[in-house]
Amino acid sequence: ERIPLVAGNWKMNFDHLEATYFVQKLAWLLRDAHFDFRRVEVALFPSFTSLRSVEVLVEADKLKIRYGAQSVSVTNQGAFTGDISADMIAHLGCSYVIIGHSERRKYHPEDDANIVDQVRAVLAADMRPILCVGESFEERRQGIELDFAVGQVHDVTRDLNEDEASRLLIAYEPVWAIGTGMVATPESAQYAAQAIRDDLRTTFNDRVADTVRILYGGSVSSRNAVELIGEPDVDGFLIGGAALDVDELAKICRLT
Ligand code: 13P
Repeated sequence: ERIPLVAGNWKMNFDHLEATYFVQKLAWLLRDAHFDFRRVEVALFPSFTSLRSVEVLVEADKLKIRYGAQSVSVTNQGAFTGDISADMIAHLGCSYVIIGHSERRKYHPEDDANIVDQVRAVLAADMRPILCVGESFEERRQGIELDFAVGQVHDVTRDLNEDEASRLLIAYEPVWAIGTGMVATPESAQYAAQAIRDDLRTTFNDRVADTVRILYGGSVSSRNAVELIGEPDVDGFLIGGAALDVDELAKICRLT
């Protein structure tokens, strides 16, 4: 049984004070709605600069909201100015790290080798990687979107063993759907999630394929969440814009 995950990727928004206010309000809204965290998991992805504040709040109020980082260094320490290691992130109580988001692939030199190393670093620090994949408009136009997304997953999983792979989460985020308001149809989100799961089954086995949660991301909102989560292979969401509005995010959590 895969518990759905609603993950809010804040990208480069909110300083630590805004982050603290948001987490408090989200916790309050969900408590008020008698939200059951055993049924749906909720995780937020603040900037590095907010993680300590979020940790302090979550610990003090014993919140069930989880959190993680948006990226990680591939090395564990040393002369890497400006980088943040997996251990540093883990020591702040993070459960997850987003890896290979299309914005990181675009604006930073994150290639497949680097992404595999990030996955390894996160696993070694006892957290879970959320590996982001997804085609651009061009691949979709050519009709090769499934091969493309599955290929991106495969580029990472071929270097992992069964145990490592079973601890992955995958976010299928078609680039054309990110921040555009053009959400994938439930059918195409399902096709992609199913193709990715089938590939895990072929590469590994039933256990890995049936364990790994596959999220959909790209213009998710309270208007489309219900239909998307109704698909059998969609196990939750990675949300950008709608995760910056606390009422909207709480609503999506309740609808999931
Ligand atoms: P939007 O929800 O703003 O489309 O962003 C999706 C995303 O990139 C989440 O990682």
